[in-house]
Amino acid sequence: MRAAVIAPDGRFEVAEVPEPKPGPGELLLRVTSCGFCGSDIKARPIMPEGTIMGHEFGGEVVGVGSGTSSTWREGTHAAVLPALSCGTCDWCRSGFVIHCPQVRLVGLGGAGGGFAEFAVITEAASIPLTPRVNSRYSALVEPFAVGLHTIHTGGLREGDDVLVIGAGSVGLTTAAWAKVRGAGSITVVDPVEARRDVAKVFGADVVLASVEEAPRNSYDLVAECVGHAELLDDCVARARPRSRVVVAGVDHLPKQFTSSSAIMKETTLTFAVYYSPAEFETVIEAIADGVIDPAPLLAKEVPLDQVNEAFADLTASAVSGRILVTP
Ligand SMILES: [Zn+2]
Ligand SMILES: [Zn+2]
Repeated sequence: MRAAVIAPDGRFEVAEVPEPKPGPGELLLRVTSCGFCGSDIKARPIMPEGTIMGHEFGGEVVGVGSGTSSTWREGTHAAVLPALSCGTCDWCRSGFVIHCPQVRLVGLGGAGGGFAEFAVITEAASIPLTPRVNSRYSALVEPFAVGLHTIHTGGLREGDDVLVIGAGSVGLTTAAWAKVRGAGSITVVDPVEARRDVAKVFGADVVLASVEEAPRNSYDLVAECVGHAELLDDCVARARPRSRVVVAGVDHLPKQFTSSSAIMKETTLTFAVYYSPAEFETVIEAIADGVIDPAPLLAKEVPLDQVNEAFADLTASAVSGRILVTP
């Protein structure tokens, strides 16, 4: 099969690689499309040569391993939850599969990802797509699950005034779910005008170019969706006393944080990563029911050969929304 693998120079190279075979409890998926995100930018330099990246994808079942449930048939479409876990530990049983001690991250070095014609995924991590969801959106289930998990972890309550910092896909999907779940008001901050425009489509009542423009002590939930930990002081400053700040953006660098104002306000500071199978199912139902329209998140679709160009566009923030690679 053809796959975009990490080459010795760290770029992607489209190569012919062996087609994976589904083992017991696994499915062979023909990848419909696969998205990129900021995590890929951060992870690519540390991925070993030959890695098949891509953790936001869906596909059509074209092979069924032994011992899988009888409901899987060839032709069924699935969205991939890109964390393969043991399925039996307490974390797996409670749905927090990312914390399973045996977890393998799909497309981030633990198992082959979606920048390939085919991928093998456990049936537990293959979330069936109802026929009511257009299969071209299967790769967008993951980003919407990130947003849903962010508002769950942040403890969004109906009527909350919500401030979302960053209108990349995490911020946009967080805003979209805040809207669906009855936020009182939604303010989204992003310096890029095109992204602010998409934020309005996803439910933002107010869009701002800079966090400095957001009033202090005014929000019940602040979501940091950029991955710049130096924004934490700004987040706490905007939060009301005894309210919540949820961090969904990943920062690998040490940054300063002044705890005094968070202490004086008794801010709940929490962090969100990944999602549960139930959250994937919720996203799929919401798309099927028209509660969430994923279309505005889809910037463009490109063939596998253009994976390097698409990656460059993403790195330069040249597009708002997802570029999907269609192997
Ligand atoms: Zn991602
Ligand atoms: Zn487990």
